[in-house]
Amino acid sequence: MKKVILLRLGHRPGRDKRITTHVGLTARLLGADGMLLAADDPVVVKSLENVVSRWGGNFYIKNKVDFNQEIKEWKTGGGKVCHLSMYGVNLPNVTDELKKCDKLMIVVGAEKVPPEIYYLADWNIAVGNQPHSEVAALAITMDRIADVDTLGIKFPGAELTIIPTKRGKQVIENLRN
Ligand code: SAM
Repeated sequence: MKKVILLRLGHRPGRDKRITTHVGLTARLLGADGMLLAADDPVVVKSLENVVSRWGGNFYIKNKVDFNQEIKEWKTGGGKVCHLSMYGVNLPNVTDELKKCDKLMIVVGAEKVPPEIYYLADWNIAVGNQPHSEVAALAITMDRIADVDTLGIKFPGAELTIIPTKRGKQVIENLRN
């Protein structure tokens, strides 16, 4: 399976708490290994870690990263960087290239991203050349470039498991040793 990590830039604590949590949750759902947060927000980290401990898997969150340093290390380790921006090359034109890449950092912004990101990235990719949401852009990108069914990913070690039902809610609590 492709190794994907998310880099979240421009997060404003307080204002972006909900959307940053949602990009983290979306990345986890669709198979990312973790999220690097280029800001200091322990509240977001705690809320994502709570989800991981209740719903399983090994998704990690790294707070307060230096994005230049993380990108440098990622590239040194053979990883590629894909920055999502409405100004970039439209996703359908690069899907095949991205599918071939087995170690990918996906970068999403909140407020305006630092201009150097456009040059540090291997690809600047638009999910349609119109403004919308980093959550939608991330979800569509991860789903289109995945080499597995992104909605069939397992999350081992969960405290809670949903039993899918046509109506209502069924959740089982898993016993821990
Ligand atoms: N005003 C900011 C700017 O000019 O850079 C962008 C704000 S936008 C809500 C936040 C993030 O959503 C962007 O940094 C980008 O990662 C993502 N995004 C929004 N529209 C996109 C699109 N059409 N394609 C890819 N990413 C998009």
